[in-house]
Amino acid sequence: MPRLSEVIAALDALWPAGLAESWDAVGTVCGDPDAEVSRVLIAVDPVQEIADEAVRIGAQLLVTHHPLYLRGTTTVAASTFKGRVVHDLIKNDIALHVAHTNADRADPGVSDALAGALDLRVVRPLVPDPADPRGRRGLGRICELEHPLTLAELAERAAKRLPATAQGIRVAGDPDALIRTVAVSGGSGDSLFDDVRAAGVDAFLTADLRHHPASEARERTPLALLDAAHWATEWPWCELAAAQLDEISDRSGWGLRVHVSRTVTDPWTAHAASTTDSTGAPN
Ligand SMILES: [Zn+2]
Repeated sequence: MPRLSEVIAALDALWPAGLAESWDAVGTVCGDPDAEVSRVLIAVDPVQEIADEAVRIGAQLLVTHHPLYLRGTTTVAASTFKGRVVHDLIKNDIALHVAHTNADRADPGVSDALAGALDLRVVRPLVPDPADPRGRRGLGRICELEHPLTLAELAERAAKRLPATAQGIRVAGDPDALIRTVAVSGGSGDSLFDDVRAAGVDAFLTADLRHHPASEARERTPLALLDAAHWATEWPWCELAAAQLDEISDRSGWGLRVHVSRTVTDPWTAHAASTTDSTGAPN
């Protein structure tokens, strides 16, 4: 059975901490490097529900995409919700390890997993990492569709292939427009509009698109937009990460049991479709 330090070393090789943004907080949040690991849970959010799941399945390591503490803290008291998570994890001998923007930038990374879930062929990163001589690391991915789809068909595919959330997929653009090339970015993508425009793609699929950046993008070019739930765009990475860790475990003879959490931790829990038209009259 491997020690936590050995498993973390393998994870650091997949998602080197040096790839993370300077503002990010990646790496091990809690855990004893000498503790043995046999069961791992991978999830997007280090929230209480996920900590409870890690306890329930008997994991010794929880790997999440989002940091528990992004900024500094002066308390891990169990009277705070984050402190409660820390207490529950430590009391149950569960380590927490975070791979956030380092997993976004990695090859393969979060957006590769998103593209894979949608059956898109990755051509190159949307914002390449200049330090990568192979040109495969970076933020977002530019992808091609094997066969062109209409925007409506692509939205339907995203709704079907990504895990179900209350939000579903919001779409901006002509539903009949033919889509051949798509930029994808797991998580909040509206800081990437300039790069998406420069790439000249037909559509951009991401999450958390706000009114003004989306509206301005639509006014400038016919770029179609698909906005999924933040959690749903990053969840495919959990399956990719589990497959990568399984492969390392097999190669190393570790016998790890790697689980992917299917708990939906997107904060939005319901969606009420509008029932009036723009004049306020009932549909
Ligand atoms: Zn995210």
